[in-house]
Amino acid sequence: MTDSTSKRSEQIARDLEETLPKERISASLFERVANALHPFPYDVEEGQVPYAVAYPETAEEVSGIMKYANREKVPVFVRGSGTQLGGSSRPHTHGIVLNVHRLNRFDIREDYGFFECGPGCVVGDLEHKLAAKGYFLPFHPGSRLIANMGGCVSNNTSGHLVDTCLGKPCDYVLGLQVVLPNGEIIETGTKGMRRPAGTDLTRYFASGDGLLGVITNIRVRLVPDFKRAYGYAMFKSLRSLASGVQRMYREKRPSPLLMEFMEKEAAKIGYEIKGLPEPTGSAIFFVSVGNTQEEASHKLGEMLTSFRAEQPDEAYEVTDLDVWEKLWGAREVIGSFLMQKTGHQWKSAEVVCNLKDLVEAIEEAANFNKGVPILEDLPLYLYGHIGALGMHPGILIPSDWDNEKQKEALAAIFHREAELNVKYGSCGGEWGQFSKRKEFFLMRYGEAAYAFVKTIKNAVDPNNILNPGILEGYR
Ligand SMILES: Cc1cc2nc3c(=O)[nH]c(=O)nc-3n(C[C@H](O)[C@H](O)[C@H](O)COP(=O)(O)OP(=O)(O)OC[C@H]3O[C@@H](n4cnc5c(N)ncnc54)[C@H](O)[C@@H]3O)c2cc1C
Repeated sequence: MTDSTSKRSEQIARDLEETLPKERISASLFERVANALHPFPYDVEEGQVPYAVAYPETAEEVSGIMKYANREKVPVFVRGSGTQLGGSSRPHTHGIVLNVHRLNRFDIREDYGFFECGPGCVVGDLEHKLAAKGYFLPFHPGSRLIANMGGCVSNNTSGHLVDTCLGKPCDYVLGLQVVLPNGEIIETGTKGMRRPAGTDLTRYFASGDGLLGVITNIRVRLVPDFKRAYGYAMFKSLRSLASGVQRMYREKRPSPLLMEFMEKEAAKIGYEIKGLPEPTGSAIFFVSVGNTQEEASHKLGEMLTSFRAEQPDEAYEVTDLDVWEKLWGAREVIGSFLMQKTGHQWKSAEVVCNLKDLVEAIEEAANFNKGVPILEDLPLYLYGHIGALGMHPGILIPSDWDNEKQKEALAAIFHREAELNVKYGSCGGEWGQFSKRKEFFLMRYGEAAYAFVKTIKNAVDPNNILNPGILEGYR
C-alpha cells in the first residue's frame, strides 16, 4: 500500500466521521481487505482495496455517505455478504465500501400482510423467523446462511426456487426505501396488497444489479406456508432425466417448488459424504406444495407419472424426512466438499436453457469444458436447478495456478457460459446481468440495449459513484 493511498484512507475515514460515529468507520487494512473479498479464486489486487469501510445504521447515514462521495468523487461499493458469484461484490477500484450489515431491522406486520427488513438481514435468519409464524420466505439461494436480503433483492435471486411455481422473488417485494446516488431518499411501491400497474419504481431497484440506488428498507408480502411432499427419481442417463422434465411441463403437471439434479459423478460424491448407497445414474430431488398434505402428495404423484414414462431406475415419494435431509444435503454440500477435499477452487457456470432444447443442452453442459484449452483437463461436476432449466457445470480450478492463469480460466468459463446461453436464447441466470456477464449481455441483447441501461445509469448517477465497474464489466 503506497503512502498516498494510506493518507487518503485516513483522510476519508476522518471525513466520514461527520456522518457516522467513529466506531462504525474503519480504515484498518485487515477490515478493508476483508470487505473486498468475494468468491472468485484469484486474489484481490492492491488497486481494489477500499480506502475505508462504513457501517451505516440508518437511511440518513447512507444519504450522508452518498452526498460526501459525490462531492469528493469517491466510488462507493455496496456490500452485503460479498457472495455474489458474477463478480459484482468485488470493488473495482479504491473507494468506500458501504457495508449494510447493521441495516438489519426486522418488523413483521401481520395486520398489513407484509414484513419489512433492512438489507443487512440474513436470508436464513428471516426464513426461520417467518416459518415460526407460519410464513414462507420466497428467497432461497444456496448461500442463505450468510447471504443478505439486499444482495438477493438487488439481483432478484431465485436460488433453488422454481420460477414456474412462485414467480421471481421480487414479485413479492411490495416496496422499497432507496437512497439515490446523489443522497436523496425515496420510497417506492405500496403498503397495500396490490402492486402498482404501469411504472413501478420498485422494479428499477429490486433486480437493478445495485446500479441505481442503495436499498435501505425492503417490504415483502407475507406468503402463508404450505404443506410439502418430497420426491426422488434416479435416471439411467442425463438424456432421460432431461426428457422427464420436458415431459412434466408438456403434460401440464403442477410446477415444483424446488427441483434440483445431480449428474451421476456429482451424486456419487454427495452420497458418499452423506452415507447413502452409490447412485446408479443421475438423480432428481423435488418438492411439491399444496394447501393440504393430500394435495401436495397428489401433485407429486402427477410429476412422478411423467418421470416414470422415461423408465427411471427408481421414482418415488420420500416419506422419511431423515432420508430426504440426506438426499437434499448431498446436493447442497457438493461445492464446499470438493473444495475441502481437493484444496482447489470451485467455480461453476450457469447454463440456462429453453424447454425445447433441454436434452441437447444438458449434454452440452456435461461437456462444458471440452474444446476449451485452459479448462479441458480440469475435473467437471454437473448439478443444478433443473426445474428452472438451470444447470451448473462446476469446475475445480487448481489453487497453485497463479492469479493470471486463474483469471484466464474464469474468463473462459464465463465466455463458454455466454455462448451457450446465447445459443439457447435464455437469460444468463441468477448472478446478475453485468460484471463478468457484460459480454453475454452484449451478445444476447446488443449494443442498443446496453446503451439503454447506460443512459439510465448516467441519468441517475452522472458521476458513476455507485458500484462503478458492474456495468462496465471487467477481466
Ligand atoms: C455457496 C454459495 C451458494 C450460492 N447459491 C446461490 C443460489 O443458489 N442462487 C443464486 O442466485 N445465488 C447463489 N449464490 C450467490 C449469492 O450468494 C447470491 O447472489 C446472494 O444474493 C448475494 O447476497 P450477498 O449478501 O452476498 O450480496 P453481495 O455479494 O454483497 O452483493 C451482491 C450485489 O448486490 C449489491 N447490493 C447488496 N446490497 C445492496 C443494497 N442494499 N442496495 C443496493 N445494492 C446492493 C452489491 O453492490 C452487489 O452488486 C451462492 C453463493 C455461494 C457462495
